[in-house]
Amino acid sequence: MVEQTGERTTRVGVRPPKSSGNGPAISEPKAFRLDLFKAIPGLKWLTKLRSFQFLLMMPNLVVFYIIIMAGFIGTPVGNKNIAIVFIWILWWFVLIGVLLPFGSRVWCAMCPMPFFGDWFQRRALIKVRTGKAAGGLKNKMFGQHRKWPKALSNIWLQNFGFLAMCTFSVQLVTRPIVTAAVLGGITVIATLLAMVYRQRTFCTYICPVSGFLSLYSMTSVVELRSADSDVCLKCKTKSCRTGNEDGWGCPWFIYMGKLDRNNYCGLCMECVKSCPNDNIALNLRPFASDVKIKGYDEAWKGFIMLALAMAYSVILLGPNGQVKDWANATETGYWAGFGIYSLILWGSALVVLPALFFGFTWLARRLAAGVVPMKQVFLSYAYLLVPLGLLAWIAFSVPLIFVNGAYILPVLSDPFGWGWDLFGTAQVAWSPVWPEYLVFAQIALLMYGLYVALRKAYAIGLTLFGSNTAATRGLVPMGVFSLAITLAFISFFAG
Ligand code: SF4
Ligand code: SF4
Ligand code: SF4
Repeated sequence: MVEQTGERTTRVGVRPPKSSGNGPAISEPKAFRLDLFKAIPGLKWLTKLRSFQFLLMMPNLVVFYIIIMAGFIGTPVGNKNIAIVFIWILWWFVLIGVLLPFGSRVWCAMCPMPFFGDWFQRRALIKVRTGKAAGGLKNKMFGQHRKWPKALSNIWLQNFGFLAMCTFSVQLVTRPIVTAAVLGGITVIATLLAMVYRQRTFCTYICPVSGFLSLYSMTSVVELRSADSDVCLKCKTKSCRTGNEDGWGCPWFIYMGKLDRNNYCGLCMECVKSCPNDNIALNLRPFASDVKIKGYDEAWKGFIMLALAMAYSVILLGPNGQVKDWANATETGYWAGFGIYSLILWGSALVVLPALFFGFTWLARRLAAGVVPMKQVFLSYAYLLVPLGLLAWIAFSVPLIFVNGAYILPVLSDPFGWGWDLFGTAQVAWSPVWPEYLVFAQIALLMYGLYVALRKAYAIGLTLFGSNTAATRGLVPMGVFSLAITLAFISFFAG
């Protein structure tokens, strides 16, 4: 099976996510790239170490273990338990505000949840094993190593899984035991699936976190790519894909020769080791350089993320106590209200926002007198959901770290809330940092998201409709949509 797009081109292994549509090929002129492997001495050497990923994963695995334990046996008081404070304040902010925009999916290189599954499949933590495995791999793999069903080779499962998980977000972010159960559950499922399916099938198709990492990694200022795609074309071994004695075949089923988006590269750096032609570059590039949404599954991820950011802003930041009580039904007992809340959340994420967006894209096509199919217009402009959504999430997360970040030092010394004082910081008083100024930072972030969205809307219009006038006409409705989303978030944060 050979698929047409970069991260999906494969003769071997499982198919990387196959979106439900034939996404448009929107692209901008080749812009600035700086190969960090050449610019930073020692960086390539580091990523070529066989122990590279193990060294990243190990500390996280230890912290992860403490977090799971604290969730189950530590204090149920959320802001005194490391499970809540480290996951929903520290990790979340670092992930969305730092790792994603500046490091793409580097979190997936250090994430502890697939650790046991990888170990089972490889029976090795550091060394690489040569041999043969189904799908043309040149590494010996253990387990059943089955192919993932074609019908599920997209991110719809991730979309629904994530939305379902987030419907219970109030419980998730306030109760340590719920956080521990969910993280532990994900780890168990990842391990079980690794015993049955090939490589990182779980990460590629099922992990509920993966969908938004995939979407927002498109904005990242770094990318891993082949240094010269012609070298890949002539390459006889395609070892990045199949593996060899120096590296495992790409766990995410990627052939580097056609990789053109960050979405499904977990930055494990195995291809850096396995490429016999030393043809991998880690590029620094402008923000939001990947601009292709390849299918409805990816577009809907954008809608879901936007709807969730709005819902959380209302629930957690807004003055409406009624909605908070509905969302927190396990505590308040308002189950009818919870039903209404869930209906609104799912309805707005899956139906209302997409329908509204469709209306704006339809108008853009009409105003631009475009002849390209409506599906292409819809999917192309769906990219606007990426910068708008990411910046809204970062803005939403700013108070998390500046206000609630004050809980980090105390739980560091007393992770279970049992009265320990390991590092002498247990009694550090709660003191929010510049709470009165945070709204300005939030507005600045939202405005930057709007700026990127408008710039991309124009570029997309130009690619779709072919002239400056048509692109400008198309920009009008898409600009109104982007502005309306931005103003809505400003009203949530400043209201
Ligand atoms: S996809 Fe999910 S489970 Fe896999 S590495 Fe990334 S965050 Fe971890
Ligand atoms: S092994 Fe290297 S040269 Fe060959 S296809 Fe992969 S990245 Fe390109
Ligand atoms: S092997 Fe290379 S392309 Fe595949 S996930 Fe790892 S870093 Fe990305």
